[in-house]
Amino acid sequence: MSREIDPEYLDRENLEKLQLKRLKKVLDRVYHKVPFYREAFDARKVKPDNIKNLKDLERLPFTTREDLRAGYPYGFLTSSLSRLVRLHTSTGTTGKPKAVLFTQKDIDQAARLITRSMSMTGAGPEDVFQNMMSYGLFTGGLIFHYGAERAGLLVIPSGTGNTERQIELMHDFKTTIVHITPSYALYLAEVMERMGMDPRGDFNLRIVYLGAEPYSEATKSKIEEIFSLDAYDSYGLSEMNGPGVAFECKEKCGMHLWEDNFIMEVIDQETLEIRRDSEEGELVLTTLNREAMPILRYRTGDLTHIYPDPCRCGRVHRRISRIKGRVDDMFILRGVNIFPSEVERILMGLPEVGRNYQIVLERHGGLEEMRVILEIKKRFFRGSLKDLKRLQNKIKARLKGELMVTPQVELVEPATLPRTTGKAKRLIDKRKI
Ligand code: ADP
Ligand code: ZN
Repeated sequence: MSREIDPEYLDRENLEKLQLKRLKKVLDRVYHKVPFYREAFDARKVKPDNIKNLKDLERLPFTTREDLRAGYPYGFLTSSLSRLVRLHTSTGTTGKPKAVLFTQKDIDQAARLITRSMSMTGAGPEDVFQNMMSYGLFTGGLIFHYGAERAGLLVIPSGTGNTERQIELMHDFKTTIVHITPSYALYLAEVMERMGMDPRGDFNLRIVYLGAEPYSEATKSKIEEIFSLDAYDSYGLSEMNGPGVAFECKEKCGMHLWEDNFIMEVIDQETLEIRRDSEEGELVLTTLNREAMPILRYRTGDLTHIYPDPCRCGRVHRRISRIKGRVDDMFILRGVNIFPSEVERILMGLPEVGRNYQIVLERHGGLEEMRVILEIKKRFFRGSLKDLKRLQNKIKARLKGELMVTPQVELVEPATLPRTTGKAKRLIDKRKI
């Protein structure tokens, strides 16, 4: 009997064979069990049997968030209620949360991807893992938890909040790995310092998994520097069973998207045409290994691109670039398209800038204004007012140079802006109010 190769290490040809085999099963299932898909197939005059190779995927309908919401609560289900064991929902960052249902097999599979992802970064049974993501309806808590347990780590299910207690546990039990949002990681460092502890010297941290919200490479480096550890980008979304969809390997050059479980495409979000590798667009995912709620060509709303070159680590699962932002996050100011993550990248690249910022959009008379409020490191407030003014002008010029609009810049002291233990709200658009 030949031993089955772990799909993590399949070669390209066999990986694609597996994808096609799984896709055919999915199509058969959704066509017969989900009225939304049957109607969409019929409207396109496509039958599951017409899909002969992966390229034919283009003939299938997209699924949007609105479609999922219209099918709420049980419309996309392909298993009987008796087989369901879990409900999770999205956080609701961009509207009403979407509900996702799991069978036991779905839970196990999602956890398996976390185990695989964690092992890829060198995590193992000797590690102590503190999961500082919200437990409950959000997938980042429980799904990551199961994956870490499967990998044999000691898991501390601390969730979010009660930060001083978290830090105590982290210190006493010598936590080596944490899973946390980038915003909470920055806040965590602040509380450690306030407690008189050194984020570098007083802890045993060696790895952090950062995910659940868009952030810049500069923020990642900042977090690595503050805690002196390795940060890995972790991508997932509830609609695709939560975390573990794509994950960085030790090479840290994009996230391997687990192609034995998902087929990925990147499309132009306006024309819906498929983009070539390296071209940025909206990530579209088809589930290949899901029992309760298979989803075809799901428009994630997340902007990325596929790296065409193979990874030095040898895995053939292709990589996506860090998520540039959500399609919905983009705002238009005086005719210019701007992503909050671009503003963040510029700000966090400046050595004077602290750990927090906020973008406020306002309308004064007929004129739209962008106000950037940012925390500056303490020592810059000890200098003269003239120096501060100079710094303010420098930041303003840098933002203007890259964004092509002139913002108002407000410098504030550290720990002035609101903190978050989950996903940050950095953009406040007062123009519509
Ligand atoms: P939502 O926040 O949309 O209500 P979820 O709680 O399921 O729903 O979060 C999933 C979303 O979080 C993704 O669609 C993406 O926008 C964002 N996200 C997750 N991981 C990352 C990451 N590593 N980088 C950037 N954004 C991420
Ligand atoms: Zn790799």
